[in-house]
Amino acid sequence: MNDVVRVLVPRPVWGTYDYRVPNNGPRPVIGGRVRVPFGQSAVTAVALEYVKQPANNIQLKNIDKVIDEDPLLTSDLLDLVQWMSDYYHFPLGSVLGSVLPVEAMRGRPLNVEPEKKWCVESTDTEDIPKNAHRQRELLELLSRKPWTTDSELRQQKIAKPVLEALHSKKLIRWEYVEVAVDYRDVEFSLTEEQSRAVDCITSSLDSFAVHVLDGVTGSGKTEVYIRAIQRVLEMGKQVLVLVPEISLTPQTAESFASRFGSVAVLHSMRTNVQRFDVWTRVGSGEHRLVIGTRSAVFAPFKNLGLIVVDEEHDSSYKQGETLRYSARDVAIVRANKLGIPCVLGSATPSLETLHNVETGKYSMATLSHRPGTAEMPSFNVLDIRGHQLVGGMSPQLISKIREHLNAEAQVLILINRRGYARSVVCNDCGWIPYCVDCSVKLTLHDVPTAELRCHQCERRYRVPETCTSCDSKRVRSVGSATQRVEETLQMLFENVPTYRVDRDSTNSSGKLERLFANVKTQEKCILVGTQMLSKGHHFPNVTLVAVIGADAGFLSTDFRAAERTAQLIVQVAGRAGRAQRRGEVWIQSLDPHNPNLQALVIQGYRGFVSAEQYLRDSSDLPPRTHMAVLRCEGSNADEQERFLLDRLAEVEDSGVEALGPVPAPIARIAGRWRYQAALVSPSRTQLHNALRKVERKTSNRSKSRWSIDVDPADMA
Ligand code: ADP
Ligand code: ZN
Ligand code: ZN
Repeated sequence: MNDVVRVLVPRPVWGTYDYRVPNNGPRPVIGGRVRVPFGQSAVTAVALEYVKQPANNIQLKNIDKVIDEDPLLTSDLLDLVQWMSDYYHFPLGSVLGSVLPVEAMRGRPLNVEPEKKWCVESTDTEDIPKNAHRQRELLELLSRKPWTTDSELRQQKIAKPVLEALHSKKLIRWEYVEVAVDYRDVEFSLTEEQSRAVDCITSSLDSFAVHVLDGVTGSGKTEVYIRAIQRVLEMGKQVLVLVPEISLTPQTAESFASRFGSVAVLHSMRTNVQRFDVWTRVGSGEHRLVIGTRSAVFAPFKNLGLIVVDEEHDSSYKQGETLRYSARDVAIVRANKLGIPCVLGSATPSLETLHNVETGKYSMATLSHRPGTAEMPSFNVLDIRGHQLVGGMSPQLISKIREHLNAEAQVLILINRRGYARSVVCNDCGWIPYCVDCSVKLTLHDVPTAELRCHQCERRYRVPETCTSCDSKRVRSVGSATQRVEETLQMLFENVPTYRVDRDSTNSSGKLERLFANVKTQEKCILVGTQMLSKGHHFPNVTLVAVIGADAGFLSTDFRAAERTAQLIVQVAGRAGRAQRRGEVWIQSLDPHNPNLQALVIQGYRGFVSAEQYLRDSSDLPPRTHMAVLRCEGSNADEQERFLLDRLAEVEDSGVEALGPVPAPIARIAGRWRYQAALVSPSRTQLHNALRKVERKTSNRSKSRWSIDVDPADMA
């Protein structure tokens, strides 16, 4: 009798599959990969467990091959895969496909050999040709930082031939040394609040707990993470730090590297092979400290001791397609399974997180001020009703800008819309051009050429000279976007450099870095940009932050839009006035008495949260209730609606509230009609039971593309 092994296959299937292990070959390890026949082809699968009794008594096939001698996935990860399939109502096999790096599925062997680490052998530079600058640079780098790894050198763009040149001259050498994490202290001592936060986190390093670190921007949250991490590394364990977006905030990784000697970085910008390499070295325990974006939460840590989720409120932790998971929530579940603490840091904690603090599930430590003399900026509303705007800005705002520039300071303007103008409109009949494939107005762009663009499908159109509807020649642009604000400011302040930061101006990450470096060295200048300006970068010389066009966010039908807008304003405001001078924030508004806006300006973010929480409660919206959205799209609108109605009929008596179906806020994208319905319940169990009924109703032959989104981040 052969052994039978149960495996997970990275295919869109809900179950597991059993295979026979041939007696004469190697035995699969649990969590390791095997090659198995599947349908007409073969797939890379992961061994889950040995079973005595196969699931059914059909003739089992043999596994083809054992790929790994050591497990690729740890047992807590295998559990996590099952948990995600249940919680997000996503096929088990597809969850595995999302968790495994591409190279793992291709069957690439585990890289168990440790990395080479380089150091200087001799500083005798006579043998280095005069013009070999890169060789000198490398020698200098290695004397500054001995035992630099191969991958760190690659990150520094050191080419192989340069390395080989020095190696062959015996100026440098390598070893497989185990580099102890070398912690470097800093001059300053922790503030009282910081010490308390560190004590709170480190009081329970060997049991599960979620600690919220609620610290205003610039209050030194990173320093708290670092001290806690230091303690965990000392215990010989590994640490994972999740960050929202590495390309916008490379200095976060640098600040950890400068304190711990080395960090491994895991994010989607790297090549598949590099990602797999880091992944396997996390698995072997070689990488002790890992910083990464969303999917790094799936790395196969051998001995994880702490997870830090920085900027936990950030919506980029939520994957918006396929497996719609929240990396923050998965991190908490993983910490729970491992019995380790998880830290959630933010200056603007999400309503969910604050709710969990309120109910006692999470503990919280607060950093209420910035260390040293840096003060928090003041918040003000600028009522623009009845004012003539120039490039989207009121005369008062423009004089504010002038005032700050005259004081040799920098000004930051947030307008969360890229392009030149919101749209064009016919002055005579009110005609507005729409995308032919999507139900959205076209945005006018001016740079590099004048054209209309659809921000949903990126289709481009010529700017019409005459109205399509009435032939009028009086077609003009309305509403400002980044390019028009930039143009207006360049006209008004000719001698002041202006920098625009949006997806169109910064298509390569190097460009953004250079731009920010430029701003640091400038005295006065103006920064105009979208939410990209709110992420992590500090601008010590900015003393004025102006927010244009935030009203839409507070009036949106998407119930999370107000929360996101408040977070955006507070985050961008926090970029300002970090140095000696106090910053001011001015929010232009056509709706100056909006209760959300007033609460934010007068009572700060927490004031906003109380007001918003009240509104959510009174309409039974999360966080006190739980929500899932069913989305459905296809070429025929009626079919989508009917599809969702059929599903909702299944849950009529299940105690959950069903809302919809309604057309999505953007009812059509790229020619496909989109409908949605929401299920809401105060009980998670009830919600999941209802979702299981919805699932069962669905046959594979349905023509609609549909999905379940548990804990949706937006309703778009
Ligand atoms: P946050 O992440 O909370 O926005 P940072 O961690 O970036 O804030 O800290 C802001 C600045 O304050 C950094 O330059 C950091 O080095 C400095 N800093 C942190 N803690 C202290 C302290 N206890 N004393 C003096 N400076 C500190
Ligand atoms: Zn017209
Ligand atoms: Zn379009």
